Amino acid sequence: MAGKPYLLSEVTWKTVRETTYDVAVLPWGATEAHNFHLPYGTDNYEVAHIAEEAARLAWSAGAKVIVLPAVPFGVNTGQLDIRLCINMNPSTQAAVLADVAHSLEGQGLKKLVVLNGHGGNDFRQMIRELQPKCGVFICTINWWNCVDPKPFFDEPGDHAGELETSAMMHIAPDLLLPLSEAGEGRARSFRLKGMREGWAWAPRQWPRVTDDTGVGNPAAAAEKKGERFLDAVAERIGGFLVELAAVDAGELYE
Ligand SMILES: [Zn+2]
Repeated sequence: MAGKPYLLSEVTWKTVRETTYDVAVLPWGATEAHNFHLPYGTDNYEVAHIAEEAARLAWSAGAKVIVLPAVPFGVNTGQLDIRLCINMNPSTQAAVLADVAHSLEGQGLKKLVVLNGHGGNDFRQMIRELQPKCGVFICTINWWNCVDPKPFFDEPGDHAGELETSAMMHIAPDLLLPLSEAGEGRARSFRLKGMREGWAWAPRQWPRVTDDTGVGNPAAAAEKKGERFLDAVAERIGGFLVELAAVDAGELYE
């Protein structure tokens, strides 16, 4: 049986040869500890799930989108002393992104969405640098920013909290330890007022911030909450893909 036509890992050259794709989606995750109860691949499972669901919706609406295999390593410079957290520096990510974008450019694909699944990744500056040198229109989405999580969760949390735990309960329930095994995800704040208020910024040194690697309490997580939120996110991103597929990359302004 043939694979899903919007997942590059599953399609054959026969399908690719016969299809004109308008938009490529590059999911980009991370490999890192997620409290005691979620797997190291959490960000990768989440971003792959959302990319696939959004692409499925877009494809069924007639948009020719193709999801590329996900990049599994994120920027984790603040977690280097947590065993088996794997860091990929921003400069390496920029080189990977440029190679992917230039591959697509030579093949006539006009639009690329970097779908980000990890808070330490930030593709905006890379795109600013790459865009003038590349004929592919490149944009980026942080999936957790597309839909306001507050109506869906008591306390969404930042990392391995209620939002992520609920999402994983829906995506890969067999990979979770019971909530009784999870830490509370208590995070220590910066001493500096400007940083606490969010208008001054520095990367957090993770082991100093949290004892269980989590930031945000997962106690109120539930599979249904995850399903509802992920559906809303996929619907929103799917809608964006449909819009992007239809637009001329040279005519983006009203
Ligand atoms: Zn995560």
